[in-house]
Amino acid sequence: MSSDCIFCKIAAGEMPADVVASDDEFVAFKDAHPLAPVHVLVAPRRHITSLDVIELLGPDGAGRLLHFVASVARELGVHETGYRVVTNIGPDAGQEVFHLHLHVIGGRRLGEMA
Ligand code: AMP
Ligand code: ZN
Repeated sequence: MSSDCIFCKIAAGEMPADVVASDDEFVAFKDAHPLAPVHVLVAPRRHITSLDVIELLGPDGAGRLLHFVASVARELGVHETGYRVVTNIGPDAGQEVFHLHLHVIGGRRLGEMA
């Protein structure tokens, strides 16, 4: 755990968050500033800074992460109508929290995006 990382604190239950799903490796919680009716962040409990170092989650960590994302989307019901999964990596992407997280966004027509 990184002592000054807010997502580490959320994963450890040391900071309040609206957790919608979790297992021993990942946690999903509502984004504090939702862009759509469904806007959840999926993060590993382990502190890694971004997808750029995904190998630090260990063998098939990326696969487990994506399976967890898909299960969260099913739980939230957006798998029926569609959803978007986004992760920001570094300054050009505007990454604000340097603990890997995937945005799961849905519940409305999202329009085009890069
Ligand atoms: P980014 O690093 O660019 O993916 O942006 C960080 C995201 O985390 C933003 O969408 C914020 O609204 C969200 N966020 C920041 N702090 C919290 C928090 N304590 N609980 C839930 N979401 C948060
Ligand atoms: Zn962290």
